[in-house]
Order: sequence, then C-alpha cells, then structure tokens
Amino acid sequence: MQSIRRRLSIITIACSIVAIILCALFVNLAVNSTFNKYMSDIQKQRNSRIVQYFEQIYKKDKRWQSTSGEEIMHEAYMGNYCLTLLDENKKVIWGMNPSTIKQNMNGTMMKSQSTGVYMSSTFQIRDNGKIVGYVTIGQYSPLILSKQDVDFKLAINKNIVISVIVTALSAIIISIMLSKQFSAPIKAVADTSVELSKGNYSANSDVKSNIVELNNLIESIDTLGAKLKKQDELRRRLVSDISHEIRTPLNVLQNNLEAMLDGVFPVDENRLNYLNSEVIRFGKLLDHLSELNDFEDEKVQLNMKVTLLDEIVKAVCDEFYIELKNKNIKLNLNVEKNKQFNIMGDYNKLKEVFINIISNAIKFTNDNGQIWIKLYKSKSKVLVKIKDNGIGIREEDLPNIFERLYRGDKSRHKIQGNGIGLTIVKRILSLHSADITVSSEEGKGTEFTISFKEVTR
Ligand code: ADP
Repeated sequence: MQSIRRRLSIITIACSIVAIILCALFVNLAVNSTFNKYMSDIQKQRNSRIVQYFEQIYKKDKRWQSTSGEEIMHEAYMGNYCLTLLDENKKVIWGMNPSTIKQNMNGTMMKSQSTGVYMSSTFQIRDNGKIVGYVTIGQYSPLILSKQDVDFKLAINKNIVISVIVTALSAIIISIMLSKQFSAPIKAVADTSVELSKGNYSANSDVKSNIVELNNLIESIDTLGAKLKKQDELRRRLVSDISHEIRTPLNVLQNNLEAMLDGVFPVDENRLNYLNSEVIRFGKLLDHLSELNDFEDEKVQLNMKVTLLDEIVKAVCDEFYIELKNKNIKLNLNVEKNKQFNIMGDYNKLKEVFINIISNAIKFTNDNGQIWIKLYKSKSKVLVKIKDNGIGIREEDLPNIFERLYRGDKSRHKIQGNGIGLTIVKRILSLHSADITVSSEEGKGTEFTISFKEVTR
C-alpha cells in the first residue's frame, strides 16, 4: 500500500513528464519541418537563379561555348552541388565531376550527408520561349546543409532537451508541493478518524485547507469527534448517575432496616411510611427509566386528536394547587381571551409535558416566588411560555438539560429529581412536531417556550 501523498505525486509527475516529452517531440518535429521547408525554398531559389544565369549567358553569346558560364563552377563547388551544362540536344557542353564534390563534402559537411545517394534534377534553359539547353544540378542529399545549418539545428534540439529537463524538474517540485497540499489534510483527517476509532475522542485534525470539500471534511470529522466526546461524557455520567440514583434509596432502606433490626430505631408507623416513600421514589425512577426506554425504542403509541391546549394547561395548574400553596408561590396564568388553542396531540402525554415543566418551576423556585404561564398565538402557532423567578440554570448546564439523567449542579445535591423529566418532555414534543426552547439566568429565573402548530377546525 502507498500513502496518498506518494500516489498523488507519482500520478502528477508521470502526467507532467508524459506531457513534457510529447510537447518536446511536437516542438522538435515542427522546428525540423519548418527548417527543412525553409532550406528547400532556398534551394529552389538557387536552382531558378542558376537557370536565369545560363539564360543570360545564352542571350549574350547566342550560342553555347565549351566555357559558357564556367565562372559559376566555383560557387557550385563551394555550395557542394554539381552542375552539368547540356545543349538543346542534351549533349554535354561541360560538367563537374560529382566525386570532387564528395571529397569536398567530407571535409566540411556532416558525414551522413556526404555518404547519401547522388540525386540530380535537370532544368530547361530558354531563350524567347525556345529551349536552347539544359542544366543538371546534382547533390548528395535532398537538402544541402552547411555546418552552420546543422549546428543551428543541433542548438535548437539542445535547447529543447534543456527545456525538457528544467520543465520536468519544476513539474516534479510543483507536483510534490501540490500533492502535499491535498494529502496533508486528508492524512490529518485519516489520522483523526483512526484515533476516534481507538476511542481517543479528544483527537483533532488541527489543519486548514482552502479547498472547500477538504475543509468540509476536516470540519465534519472534528465535529464528529466533539459529538462522540460529548456522548461519551454523557454515557459515563449516565452510568454514574444511575448507580448513584439507585444506591441512595437502597442505602437509606438498608441503614434504616438494620437499625430497626438492631433495635436502634423503633418499628413505628412514621418510620415505615418514610421507608415506603423511599421505595415509591425508587419505583418512580425505574418507571421513568422504562418510559424513556420506550421512547428510545419507539414503542410509544400516541393517541393523536384535536386537543385544546388551554384546557390541558389549566388542568395541570389546578393539580399543583397544594404544592404552590405549601411554598407560597404565586402562579399567574394568562390565557389570551376569546381564542381557541386547538392543536393535534395526545392529551395524556401533553399533560405529562406540562406536569414536568411546571413541577420543575415549583421545585426550582424558592418560597414566596412567582411563576408566569402565558398562552397565546402567533403566526399560526400556539405558544406557551412558562417562566419562574427561581434559582435559574448555569450557562454551561443549559445545552445539556434535555439530556438523559442530566441535572444541573445546583439542583443535584439540594433538590430531589432524577434528570429524566426534560428528556421525556423533549421526546414527547418532538413526536408532536413541537419545539421547546429555554433561556435562563442564574439566580434570576428560567423561561421555557413551547410552540405547537395550530389546527383550524
Ligand atoms: P430533574 O429531575 O432534575 O428536575 P429534569 O430533566 O426535569 O430533571 O431537569 C433537568 C435539570 O434542568 C434540572 O436538574 C435542573 O438543573 C434544570 N431545570 C429544569 N427546569 C428548571 C427550572 N425551572 N429552574 C431551574 N433549573 C431547572
């Protein structure tokens, strides 16, 4: 197996090198063919210049002599081509020996050219439109290249090779850098997920990327880590809370029963009533846990009907008459007049919601405090606000109060409860597609707002 960085580098380097070599080949082909075309044009111009030269000679002398135009022989010798002058009957007037050209070429030309096949072309010489002779131009290669020409071609090829090497090196460096840009965040995310799978939920990717998808990936894995960490903490807390909740009533029972058996406590009605209340409390905790379990296993069946929310709220308030009186808490119920608060819901489950929230408000409000309940409508929603001026909830506890068995630190020691009520409230409300929000200030009070969709009959 290879690392992503290595694989990415190999792919990008291979692609770049193939592209560079292909590019170099095409440039080389293009330069060569353009150069050859240029040389062949020059050769054509040379040929027509030679023909014109002999036409001028004939025009001047009106006939051929054995020395006609011999002056050009030197130029031909220097240019490594061979000339033969023929009359109109193709009889040789004078001609150069190709082998002398070959010897000359051995000294000045590339070896490949001097060993080529001798080729010749014959051109007509005309005077006033009439053929008066022929000139044959012969050479040892289709194109005659001087040493400078060959050097020029070699220099171009050398430059192409240098460009290939420099570009390939740059491509390799850029590929390595680019692959690092891609691979570093992916590697970080992969490392984080390995750590998470090992149970190290504090692992964090700690990298940034300016590529949207990679950045999203980094953020999601970090968020996943944070959520797993929170769930893990809640799970640990849940286990310790459940054992604490179970241990406390059992300890009370055990200590009291032992004291009674030892004759330290008398076995009277008061003590038995007290022990019975502990057993009832213990039973309630188990009932709550099993109810929560039913919600989590989606076993709860709701009996959904059009229900009047004001009726439910009023009924629950009445049920708390004695508790309110005991703590001298004033309950202000404010229901918008002449309005119907119809919602679709399960009467008993909704009653359970308000029992939980109002009982919390009473529980967490000191004697002589106040509770305000307001029922109103807004934008086809039915809203209920339950506000108290009790102990309030710490800012760090607020996001967790709907979690299973979560109890605010303040309430944990002083006020009875098991931290399941609001979890059940949230589950019931979500089955009703209703929202619940909470705002609170420590020492000042708490406000829950529940909003239901209104049903029109
Ligand atoms: P509990 O059995 O502890 O009341 P809940 O799930 O009903 O469990 O509530 C969870 C926690 O939310 C409580 O322990 C308490 O810290 C906080 N809480 C809920 N309602 C109020 C309130 N009206 N005032 C202050 N704290 C509250």
